[in-house]
Amino acid sequence: MNYLSTRGAGAGERHTFSEILLGGLAKDGGLYLPADYPRVTADELTRWRTLPYADLAFEILSKFCDDIPADDLRALTRKTYTAATYCNVRDDESAAQITPLKTLGVEDGAPLSLLELSNGPTLAFKDMAMQLIGNLFEYALAKHGESLNILGATSGDTGSAAEYAMRGKNGIRVFMLSPHKKMSAFQTAQMYSLQDPNIFNLAVQGVFDDAQDIVKAVSNDHAFKAKYKIGTVNSINWARVVAQVVYYFKGYFAATKSNAERVSFTVPSGNFGNVCAGHIARMMGLPIEKLVVATNENDVLDEFFRTGIYRVRKAAETYHTSSPSMDISKASNFERFVYDLLGRDPARVLQLFRDVEEKGGFDLAASGDFARVREFGFVSGSSSHDTRVDTIRDVFQRYDTMIDTHTADGVKVAREHLQPGIPMIVLETAQPIKFGETIREALLREPERPAAFSGLESLPQRFEVVPADAQRVKDFIVANTGE
Ligand SMILES: *Cc1c(COP(=O)(O)O)cnc(C)c1O
Repeated sequence: MNYLSTRGAGAGERHTFSEILLGGLAKDGGLYLPADYPRVTADELTRWRTLPYADLAFEILSKFCDDIPADDLRALTRKTYTAATYCNVRDDESAAQITPLKTLGVEDGAPLSLLELSNGPTLAFKDMAMQLIGNLFEYALAKHGESLNILGATSGDTGSAAEYAMRGKNGIRVFMLSPHKKMSAFQTAQMYSLQDPNIFNLAVQGVFDDAQDIVKAVSNDHAFKAKYKIGTVNSINWARVVAQVVYYFKGYFAATKSNAERVSFTVPSGNFGNVCAGHIARMMGLPIEKLVVATNENDVLDEFFRTGIYRVRKAAETYHTSSPSMDISKASNFERFVYDLLGRDPARVLQLFRDVEEKGGFDLAASGDFARVREFGFVSGSSSHDTRVDTIRDVFQRYDTMIDTHTADGVKVAREHLQPGIPMIVLETAQPIKFGETIREALLREPERPAAFSGLESLPQRFEVVPADAQRVKDFIVANTGE
């Protein structure tokens, strides 16, 4: 399996899975994709239907990765997808499923269900991929006797998922910047209560953008970056995307009895990583009818799928919403889909994303390519704070099920795209406890808290307060890498 860049690196620029595992963007600024999507046969689908999650993950990853020995890869997926890791759920049987499917009911003739992706250590779907990345990185670094210092900025979900994936891993340190006193008590405690010596929480005296700017400044110091082996784990990482393909298959098998059936998925979306994995599952031959992109008030993706216009937002046009993990101004994985939409024409992708940088977007409305969006199964919708709160209340009253704000955006938009007889699976991307304020507003009660999280906020915290100054962050890294 060879990987190429969406912006057209030539045949000589092709890479293996392991070569792109620790990297981010391709040299030409594009994103990596497989040269061809592997197809699943009818026999494979039948055989995979009954596999435990870890073995299904092995089968799917094997199709994308041919330079890790099979026994090693299988050991890595089995180490990652255990009931003990995905245990923040109702009962042991659900934990064994890793991503259990919860049926809500039948609406407009369509069975409606939630695919639970947030039973892992940080209660958000990012654990699904990040836990695997932690094990893959540790494996790859050990093989080459190397080490890696991961530097990131977070306003919540991504940073904690990365820390819980990397804690205790050999050869890896995490330096995670977060805005001092700007996260919820729960999110702060989740990150800062980690006592692992390879995890460093830096509370930056500023806002999230200050933290982000420091990461950019440090990464742009190429000498420093090389000397201190600085890396990242952002959402464009290919291995993260491919790890997410697995649960589309798992959800399909849970919602159907035979491979003749089709299902639709609704995906609460921000950077387009999650739904990009759904697109890849469909390209592999999984019988997916529709992929429904759900956005919040930051509707750059909904606008594209409705009109063909991709218009990135300025900072002042980006709203802080009650589903904050979807507050994006542009969608960093979107280029992967555009590449396929344009029939894999790298020169046109390069031109369009140059237009994004220079003119703030592009317009495919008049081109024949936009019509193909529906051939790829894509539709979309958006939500607001009011519809979010209404949906949380409605699902609680009707189905006795508490959902978080992002999942509520998914349910709201899913309901606009139901088709009789076709199961609609909404991806549940976080647990309600992470967004307690909106739960209290909607339900006038406290969010449910998994047992392992009782008393989280009163655990001792370990973090360093730093000024919003890249040099001070560099000094901290130098002092704590012993190199
Ligand atoms: C990251 C995140 C999303 C958005 O996922 P993308 O892959 O960026 O589209 C949605 N919901 C939650 C809770 C998240 O943490």
